[in-house]
Amino acid sequence: MKTQSCVVKGAKNVDIMTQDIQYDDNPEQTLIQIIRGGICGSDLHYYQHGKIGNYEIKHPMVLGHEVIGRVVKTHSSRLKIGQKVAINPSKPCLQCKYCLNGESNQCENMRFFGSAMYDPHVDGGFTQFKVVDTAQCIDYPQDAPDEVMVFAEPLAVCIHAVKQAGDISGKKVFISGVGPIGCLVVAAAKVLGAKEIICTDLSQRCLDIAHQMGATKTLLAHEDFTEYAQHKGEFDITFEASGHPSSIERCLTVTKAKGKIIQIGMGANVPNFPIMSLIAKEIQWIGSFRFVEEFNTAVEWLGTGKLDPLPLLSATFPYQELEQALITAGNKNDIAKVQLIFTE
Ligand SMILES: [Zn+2]
Ligand SMILES: [Zn+2]
Repeated sequence: MKTQSCVVKGAKNVDIMTQDIQYDDNPEQTLIQIIRGGICGSDLHYYQHGKIGNYEIKHPMVLGHEVIGRVVKTHSSRLKIGQKVAINPSKPCLQCKYCLNGESNQCENMRFFGSAMYDPHVDGGFTQFKVVDTAQCIDYPQDAPDEVMVFAEPLAVCIHAVKQAGDISGKKVFISGVGPIGCLVVAAAKVLGAKEIICTDLSQRCLDIAHQMGATKTLLAHEDFTEYAQHKGEFDITFEASGHPSSIERCLTVTKAKGKIIQIGMGANVPNFPIMSLIAKEIQWIGSFRFVEEFNTAVEWLGTGKLDPLPLLSATFPYQELEQALITAGNKNDIAKVQLIFTE
């Protein structure tokens, strides 16, 4: 059958392409009609630069990894035809040492939607119809709004990040950088019981959203942080979600001795990394990448209304207007999350 797909061909070069797909009655697979998708930083990066790091777009690749859809054909007794499901975009090998150890986000052979890491690239979910593994289809209460459920993947990333910090209930949390990911960390930290959540960003608009999503207090980046630097720092746990060198420095200043910094912001390299404060304060600096079972947690939280991501939704476009949607999503001053509609 035919499907129309949102593809990237290189820097500033995207297109809507008609492709052939085959649903060959594989018992493990399900044919999905995509309903909606969220544009993520990596989609935007492929559009703007034609690559992420060393992974360059060598041939047209379908973008998108934040999608929900409707079951069209399946052999699974777990799924019903016509039912809406969230699509887990990660496909670990389940055989490498990390997969066998329950750390499938570190899979050595991970095939993640919309990634140019391999050649041929792994196509993403911004397409009308897609064949996925039945295991990637996660069901949820059918009355949950589409625009809410599309947040499952970025929320999963953020729940994983919060879990990296261990038990955060009753803790004082600092979040530096509250774009969509930082704001979802705010919301996840609140659900998981953080006592105080203090956020900073360069943009008042982002801080306002963070506030709506559960921040106790917000400060613009140029404001005075001296009170938080007292006694070697005030915060038990810090999330660095901007990737800026100045933010990394601030995080080290306000995190208390023996505290933890979770690094989720992907930035440039830090030229003068303040390694001495890391050592002297015995800070634990922990990376966080993608998610494991947290995808199911995210679907459950969104499906039951435990958390409302909608303050982050800035604009919605029909998929045919892909390029306009990407340009809009690139306007970080005014826009948080942009979604594409494939069908109602
Ligand atoms: Zn994403
Ligand atoms: Zn693996």
